[in-house]
Amino acid sequence: MIDLALLAAGGQVLKDTHAAFKKVQEIKQNSELCDLLEKILDLRQTVLDAKHEIVDLRTELAELRKRKETDDRLDFDSKIGVFFMREDVSRLAYCTKCWKKDGNLVPMTASDRGYICSVCDSNYKNPDYVYPSC
Ligand SMILES: [Zn+2]
Repeated sequence: MIDLALLAAGGQVLKDTHAAFKKVQEIKQNSELCDLLEKILDLRQTVLDAKHEIVDLRTELAELRKRKETDDRLDFDSKIGVFFMREDVSRLAYCTKCWKKDGNLVPMTASDRGYICSVCDSNYKNPDYVYPSC
């Protein structure tokens, strides 16, 4: 003979077990969602880092191109050791040291004796200058 109370209790146990199983599934899904969210955030950071690197590289490339264009317009005077801008009729001299070190075109102060850089204090002597005799 089946005990109805026992049968009802068994049914309740099944319902509770099913509810607990559903709860475990939800927790598991939430945990998996958390893992996926963490991976998405990691990937997002990777993409942001890559974008920053691309911007930095594009900036560096633009600077290098600009420097190359300027470099192509310069003539080096090996006698004095300074640069002149090819199309510049005023023959303004630029410091070789500053150009090679930082890519800065620094116009120099000219005298009969040569040129002096106001940034790095380099002194470029004019080999044709004749010092006055005493
Ligand atoms: Zn200089």
